[in-house]
Amino acid sequence: MRQRLTLLGSTGSIGVSTLDVVARHPERFTVFALTAHQNIDKLAEQCLRFAPEYAVVGSATAAASLTEKLRASGNQTQVAYGAAALVEVSQGACDTVVAAIVGAAGLMPTLAAARAGKRILLANKEALVMSGALFMDAVREHQATLLPLDSEHNAIHQCLAGDSVIRGGVDKIILTASGGPFRMHDLASLADVTPAQACQHPNWSMGRKISVDSATMMNKGLEVIEAHWLFGMPADRIDVVIHPQSVIHSLVTYQDGSMLAQLGKSDMRVPIAYALAYPERISSGVTPLDLTQLTNLTFERPDLVRFPCLGLAFEALKQGGIAPTVLNAANEVAVHAFLQERIRFTAISSIVCNVLERIASSAAHTIDDVLAADTLARQYALAEINKA
Ligand code: NAD
Ligand code: MG
Repeated sequence: MRQRLTLLGSTGSIGVSTLDVVARHPERFTVFALTAHQNIDKLAEQCLRFAPEYAVVGSATAAASLTEKLRASGNQTQVAYGAAALVEVSQGACDTVVAAIVGAAGLMPTLAAARAGKRILLANKEALVMSGALFMDAVREHQATLLPLDSEHNAIHQCLAGDSVIRGGVDKIILTASGGPFRMHDLASLADVTPAQACQHPNWSMGRKISVDSATMMNKGLEVIEAHWLFGMPADRIDVVIHPQSVIHSLVTYQDGSMLAQLGKSDMRVPIAYALAYPERISSGVTPLDLTQLTNLTFERPDLVRFPCLGLAFEALKQGGIAPTVLNAANEVAVHAFLQERIRFTAISSIVCNVLERIASSAAHTIDDVLAADTLARQYALAEINKA
């Protein structure tokens, strides 16, 4: 039986890499649904190639235009649109849901996949950061399988020998970070960097939002929270180390003094292939590193003055409750405003900090509590932006 895939966010960077791996193994995978927000041309091309049963887009107009393109080429994929349709294809007749929508928009469909007991390949870290305990409860309660695509968490999953539950003997998780494009940038002129500079990641090619998150290191902050939930590790046993070469994708240290690391090229097809085939191994289209070409692997502590977002994320994790939801929402709004050149790069962290200070943390008992915190934090963040 071939694995039937729903790919949420198929036109994005992770979506495209996933389909590249899928296309290499037609005997293993078949595509049940593809979804995209606005990029109809790319989605049409993907539908013609992979012939999914469903395609979901963001609006009625986009749906009409996609349907027209597909029918003109004789393709019969059913086209739907909107949030409810995303939930439908995530809980429908698929085995695996690849969660690769960016940001909070991915929460409800990814949660639906958990509640339907699917195998979830998680790239959309924001969904887990927002809903933490509630999401993990849904995974356990409905016996879903959660496999990380994020390269660091995928590395840790591999270092734990495929065990996503920390058993005895683990001392710490160490997340590596490249430090992004501004690791060495003059601090005084950080306020003047442009969106184009921020999206120019030294090692990885990714969507614009995560590229800015990498430049502020909020991405690593979100990953600390993600690691906490995925592996059940307390914040004080998760370390971050800057490793500008991005060769080691993360490590686990054990109580006996051993450290296990996973190494590979900076190509997301490696963790994607691992998770798609887990517990087997399949080709990803990526060759292993040539060790003789590796020189000078370096490691340094992150500077929290340069990267205040990392400190804020640790803070939010320690506070618990809705604090990570607030952190994530304020960051999404601030990054969006920076990409539109409405605020400076350095305003991202101050907006997140101010919003976190203004909203007292409380418990998140239900998804409605999470969504309410998300909405409130977005309002406060917008107010901060309009003030600036
Ligand atoms: P991207 O911007 O390239 O793609 C985002 C996808 O989500 C697109 O298909 C888009 O159509 C869809 N989308 C955007 N807004 C939407 C909305 N409101 N409703 C429905 N769909 C929407 O992003 P990406 O770089 O592929 O990242 C996707 C996720 O994976 C993010 O959460 C990111 O943090 C995570 N991730 C990415 C990488 C990477 O290398 N790109 C690595 C690790 C984790
Ligand atoms: Mg990552």
